[in-house]
Amino acid sequence: MSTQQPIKLDFGVVHYDLMLPPIIKRNYGKWKYHEIIKPGILKHVSETGEEFYTVRAGAPKFASVDTVRKLCDLADKYCDGYLRFTSRHNIEFLISKKENIDGLIADLKKMGLPVGGTGNSMASIIQCTAWMHCHTAATDAAGIGKSVYDGLFEYFQRMDLPAKLKIAISGCLNMCGAVHCSDIAILGVHRVPPKVIDEIVSKACEIPSLIAVCPTYAIKPNPKAKSITIDPDKCMYCGICYGMCPGVPLADPKNDGVSIWVGGKVSSTRSGPMFSRLVVPYLPNNPPRWPEVVDVVKKIVNVWVDGAKKDERMGEWIERIGWGRFFKITGIPFTDKHIDDYVFAIPSMSTGAQVRL
Ligand code: SF4
Repeated sequence: MSTQQPIKLDFGVVHYDLMLPPIIKRNYGKWKYHEIIKPGILKHVSETGEEFYTVRAGAPKFASVDTVRKLCDLADKYCDGYLRFTSRHNIEFLISKKENIDGLIADLKKMGLPVGGTGNSMASIIQCTAWMHCHTAATDAAGIGKSVYDGLFEYFQRMDLPAKLKIAISGCLNMCGAVHCSDIAILGVHRVPPKVIDEIVSKACEIPSLIAVCPTYAIKPNPKAKSITIDPDKCMYCGICYGMCPGVPLADPKNDGVSIWVGGKVSSTRSGPMFSRLVVPYLPNNPPRWPEVVDVVKKIVNVWVDGAKKDERMGEWIERIGWGRFFKITGIPFTDKHIDDYVFAIPSMSTGAQVRL
């Protein structure tokens, strides 16, 4: 049992200790090993001999209250009320009675929720909210997520990929989808700076704050129009100014689209953490099924499955065969848009908090 006393906070979430299933509290610090007994089912064994099971199911990225209630009913029925939502959009049902596993899986199937995402499988695709809530997004992360998921769905329920496959989608470079370190990253891109609508800027916006909010100092005052100007050479299309002022909209239906990056990972297993690198600089937004994006992602996954050694993550495989060979076997053209990422990355890419001008 944890020696830590639950702390009662006056705001935010309660102390995690209050949420632990009793079996986990009893065996705190005593877990000996765990194994994946089949896709989506984890078994943890304690030094005391107690066993604990986790059933991992893919969750809807946006769930209605009705759906959450149904999930809670399942947790009450099979897991004494214990479940958790993971940062990779899974639901994990925490089960102390092995005999409850099959019934839970059958009920999840009836709800249309797949069980899987463990070991060498495709993890749930993560994404930001993008167009659904956000004004800086250049694409619809949820729509792409669904389309790519449909194309690769079989890999969620199997564990015969060379290694884990983590796919992430972010609607813009502000990276709520954490795409900078995923095996395959899909990133919405703007290609033109915000339009300045002088009439709105002069009437509705606080100009000093608008100038101050730009991280690259691309915004300058335009006193004649009581407005601002934006230097297109300095603008990095982050959209932060639009959050401050409705007179500088960034969305552009003709120029906005999607880029694809590969080879990132967070874990330190074998090789260290790696950043994703640009492989496709631009694909058009083509809702509702984004066929161009799905085709490229499937092609990259297929060549990786054919060529990687066991437990070799996407980035490790590419480092072994070389980026030149990667571009050759995927048939993805290497263009002038890639040069910064592959030739000048160290001097020009900022990996710290400082802005370089
Ligand atoms: Fe500055 Fe970003 Fe606005 Fe460009 S989009 S002007 S970089 S705040």
